[in-house]
Amino acid sequence: MRVFTSLYILILVYIIAALVFWEINLQKQSGRIYAQEVITLRNQVDSTRLPNIYKHEMDMLNQKLKSRTMQYVGEGATFLIVILIGAAVVYGSFTRRMMVSKQQNNFMLAVTHELKSPVAAIKLNLQTLEKHQLNEEKRKLLIDRCISESNRLNDLCNNMLFTSQIEGRQYKPAMEIFSLSALAEEMVAEIALRYSRRFQEEIAAGCKVVGDAPMLRIAISNLLENAIKYTPASQPITITLAHKPPMVVLSIADEGPGIPDGEKRRIFEKFYRIGNEDTRKTKGTGLGLYLSSKIVEQHRGRITVTDNTPLGSVFHIQLPLA
Ligand code: ADP
Repeated sequence: MRVFTSLYILILVYIIAALVFWEINLQKQSGRIYAQEVITLRNQVDSTRLPNIYKHEMDMLNQKLKSRTMQYVGEGATFLIVILIGAAVVYGSFTRRMMVSKQQNNFMLAVTHELKSPVAAIKLNLQTLEKHQLNEEKRKLLIDRCISESNRLNDLCNNMLFTSQIEGRQYKPAMEIFSLSALAEEMVAEIALRYSRRFQEEIAAGCKVVGDAPMLRIAISNLLENAIKYTPASQPITITLAHKPPMVVLSIADEGPGIPDGEKRRIFEKFYRIGNEDTRKTKGTGLGLYLSSKIVEQHRGRITVTDNTPLGSVFHIQLPLA
């Protein structure tokens, strides 16, 4: 990328220098034409005998010189602007392409890893169960791990499947009235069973929305999974559902590392993950928030993120009340 940028700047500087060179040459040539025309005029018209005609002709020559200069400067400036705009467009689209291809590459690496690691973990746990006579407690632990890994696999497959369906416009959300309060209660109960950590909830009763409950479940689940993934196990996660007519707002607050202001929009882009793929420790594909935002948009809602106090972030899903 750096080599390309240097080469690109070099070529651009060369083109601009060539343009300036031609501009100077044209101006010089115009000066020479002017000098030649003045000599011809002096030979043809005697300035002492016909001063008025001479002056008139000189004025005409000066006028021609001026308009030639204006024409060359105008054309030169137009070319320069066109070249600069073209260069900016080419450079912008090239860097965007490079970024997308890098993100896709990261995504493929992440997906391969995300698919392989739960499969390997499930296989190992099942082999242990098969080979060893374990007591009930250990058996349960290994089975729970298998279930949790297969849930992870299932979530990832759902994210990939629904992203491609939404993008291919094959998916039409069902528009039914359902209780978001009941869905949120259910999801918090489920997640509290799966993870032994502190969840606080403040869920207003009777919040109804129009939409596709399984899809909204995926959108909310991605936010909950992220809060769990990015927050130390000792810190609580708070789920709030508030009635704010004409909207209903579901918020998931964590006390994790938080999201810098410059990244708050970008995290909703496809494949985007904060930080560098080499140094990042958490697992993920950068698809979760993208899919959540698409689902919420389909429900005529909004998804945003703000800072939590004293630390962490709060994700909000706003949906129109039914
Ligand atoms: P991923 O599979 O990487 O978690 P997401 O689309 O769900 O993909 O999230 C995109 C990025 O946003 C993550 O890589 C992470 O850097 C950041 N992020 C998401 N949720 C949180 C959170 N609760 N706290 C801190 N960072 C977060």
